[in-house]
Amino acid sequence: MSAPDENFDTVVVGGGVMGATVAVRLANAGQKVALLERGGLCMQASGVNAGTLSIQIKRAALIPYAMKGWELWRNPHEWLGADAGFNQVGGLTLAFTEDEAEMLTERMEARRQNGAPVEMIGLNRAREIEPGLSDKPLLASWCPMDGYANSYQLGDVFRAKLREVGVAVHEQTPVDRIVRPGSGPSRGNGYTAWSGDRHFTGKRLVLAGGVWLQELLWRDFGLHLPINCRVNQVSVTERMPPIVNTVLGIATSLLTLKQSRNGTILIGGGWQGKGDPERGGYEILPENLVGNLRLATYVVPALREARIVRTWLGVEGNTADVMPLVGDVPGAPDAYIIGCVRGGYTIGPYMGKLLAQYILGQEPEMPLFDPARAVMAETDTTAQATHDTLSA
Ligand SMILES: Cc1cc2nc3c(=O)[nH]c(=O)nc-3n(C[C@H](O)[C@H](O)[C@H](O)COP(=O)(O)OP(=O)(O)OC[C@H]3O[C@@H](n4cnc5c(N)ncnc54)[C@H](O)[C@@H]3O)c2cc1C
Repeated sequence: MSAPDENFDTVVVGGGVMGATVAVRLANAGQKVALLERGGLCMQASGVNAGTLSIQIKRAALIPYAMKGWELWRNPHEWLGADAGFNQVGGLTLAFTEDEAEMLTERMEARRQNGAPVEMIGLNRAREIEPGLSDKPLLASWCPMDGYANSYQLGDVFRAKLREVGVAVHEQTPVDRIVRPGSGPSRGNGYTAWSGDRHFTGKRLVLAGGVWLQELLWRDFGLHLPINCRVNQVSVTERMPPIVNTVLGIATSLLTLKQSRNGTILIGGGWQGKGDPERGGYEILPENLVGNLRLATYVVPALREARIVRTWLGVEGNTADVMPLVGDVPGAPDAYIIGCVRGGYTIGPYMGKLLAQYILGQEPEMPLFDPARAVMAETDTTAQATHDTLSA
């Protein structure tokens, strides 16, 4: 016999930064909200990421969103209720060859045009800002806004905030079936999310399942929306004397490194690990990990003295066009998607704000990212093949 659960204005599936932010905003607006999370809050991408709040490494089209997200991290009390370790230290992205320098200059110009406060500087100036830098870079871009926060604390911080605003948080609650309007116990009113024999019915549904959105959309809505899974590797060193002041990034590899106040240095991104959400089996790829660490020591030679104390993996979803999914579930009234935001730790809280505005019937401050563009016809076998290749 199934245990009766309450009815909600909105049921949110997924307790990462996207789902939790939407839930807080809707509850603040007076809605009765349930948040269902398979594991613990922010135990996936949102809690294991590298914590970089970098403006300059965001995609040019997302710069205005990244600036808003950064502002929210700088002032977290209204939406998060606590300081999440925000540090503004500035950031340098480095180019080592003429080709890389040309590419970096072009990319940064596009970001500058979209509002990022970024300038190109030579090696001497870069080494004034970051004295531990090697003499290898030819050119750098400098963004004084860049910084970081402590992602590993996010679950605890959100748990307190969600409770404060009255969200019914259910951790260790995997949603294994969602029943659409017109069938099952929802009888045409909203959606019922089932977890074992428990069910949660909402007038509205928000899917915030990270890289598992593809599976949720296919299983419960029959929508084929390919999501490419990036398996990011992150390492942390033992505590070191101060050797890195800023957030350092590599123009060609998405690798970043920075030193926390406690002296540890976080090295994340770059060459990937392996695995995907369908088959699981996530693994660190030692050769790629060593490549990332070598690159870090090439940038900051003093890192050769550092010992790595831990390395971990986290998975992040990208659409084929590497742009976010924020908007309606195609063909499903009152159901919404939020996810696949590249740089989603930085930008996630703002995307959550925009989606909450939309759900509440307000005009979002900035345009959303209609998921319909990324849905493929079920019979499109070429598309499936492309997805398989991307996931490999
Ligand atoms: C290792 C790594 C490093 C990164 N570094 C940075 C960085 O430095 N700066 C930056 O801005 N961004 C970074 N990112 C990106 C950023 O972390 C992500 O874009 C963001 O956290 C995604 O948030 P999310 O809520 O969409 O997904 P997630 O945090 O993955 O949350 C989705 C949640 O949905 C839950 N879920 C899925 N299916 C179900 C189900 N059926 N039932 C119940 N729950 C379900 C999952 O358990 C998960 O907790 C990094 C990502 C990774 C993986």
